Amino acid sequence: QLKFADSLSRLGTESAFVVLARAGKLAAEGRDIINLGIGQPDFQTPEHIVEAGIKALRDGHHGYTPANGLPKLRESVAADLHRRHGVEVNPDNVVIQPGGKPTMFFACLMFGQPGAEIMYPNPGFPIYESAIKYSGATPVPIALKEENGFAFSAEEVLGQITERTSLIIINSPANPTGGVTPREEIDKLVKGLEAHPNVALMSDEIYSNMLYGGREHVSLLQYPEIRDRLIVLDGWSKTYAMTGWRLGYAVWPDSCVDHVTRLCINDHSCVNAATQYAGIAALDGPQDAVTAMLAEFDKRRQVIVEGLNDLPGVTCTDCAGAFYAFPNISGTGLSAMEAQNRFLDEAGVATVAGTSFGKYGEGYLRFSYANSTENIVEALRRIRGLL
Ligand code: PLP
Repeated sequence: QLKFADSLSRLGTESAFVVLARAGKLAAEGRDIINLGIGQPDFQTPEHIVEAGIKALRDGHHGYTPANGLPKLRESVAADLHRRHGVEVNPDNVVIQPGGKPTMFFACLMFGQPGAEIMYPNPGFPIYESAIKYSGATPVPIALKEENGFAFSAEEVLGQITERTSLIIINSPANPTGGVTPREEIDKLVKGLEAHPNVALMSDEIYSNMLYGGREHVSLLQYPEIRDRLIVLDGWSKTYAMTGWRLGYAVWPDSCVDHVTRLCINDHSCVNAATQYAGIAALDGPQDAVTAMLAEFDKRRQVIVEGLNDLPGVTCTDCAGAFYAFPNISGTGLSAMEAQNRFLDEAGVATVAGTSFGKYGEGYLRFSYANSTENIVEALRRIRGLL
């Protein structure tokens, strides 16, 4: 019997990977599976980015880089944030990571310990709750409701702050709901936080490029009054279809930069050098592939929202961002997990139960529309037959 640490029992997982494995197994057995469970773009990384990665390898960039990332890459991030959000960011506050996830894990390790409380969106990205629990802190859910378009209510967030609250995590556009929090709510949150100067805020903006219907992203970086305790997470995975490259970043307050850099040194030394060069090409190069990908996502979004609303017992909000629809399936009489399992086993359609994203996800199912329109239409046809 090995003497495993107790903390391991507190570590959660991301069920999308479990569904993915099961869908892959069924497909390997010869079943025709349509995968709407997956949280990654179904596009290839644009060619000029791939070329930049290959060139970096050929040019001999095989060694360690600074732990916080190549200076040129951090400058490109700052320039990109200025272009997209109209904000000034010092490249010294940018820390490059192998993906978006390490930022949330490190933030939870930095602010979480027994006795501390960390707030997080629920339903939300499952790693928040997992990382909070792992740190020993108490996870305090921010309930996201369909009637608010799955945006958080600033009043509810502020009302849950106690003297033990060390960190609040927010995410807009959101996984798994596609919800986008309106500017008024963010204004209210920032205003209310004035009364709690020692509470840190992490805004996960990994989907900041993915908003539809003419909506504009509201970055928390646009609020200078909270910069001294604000962490903004973003990255390349979703925007540039680079999930497997493992590249992300966050903008950290001055007081956190040394701590997070030390966590990087302890954990992974630095991100793969060639990947960082590819990241520079992504930010500095042409953005037309991103625009084309978004136009395609928007078309599919309209198809899936309309199709879901046409199913018996199912209703779906317009999911204004990311690439997820999060329909309410309670009218079908199925629980989220029953629907996930039956849709996969009997209709060959992989989706993820809302409860994989927290207890407030009961009655919902996440559909990713990172799949072709043809497959989306066919998946909806099969589910209609089953229902
Ligand atoms: N944040 C959210 C809300 C996500 O949905 C994801 C990925 O699904 C991530 C962060 C992590 O992205 P990465 O693959 O870059 O670690």
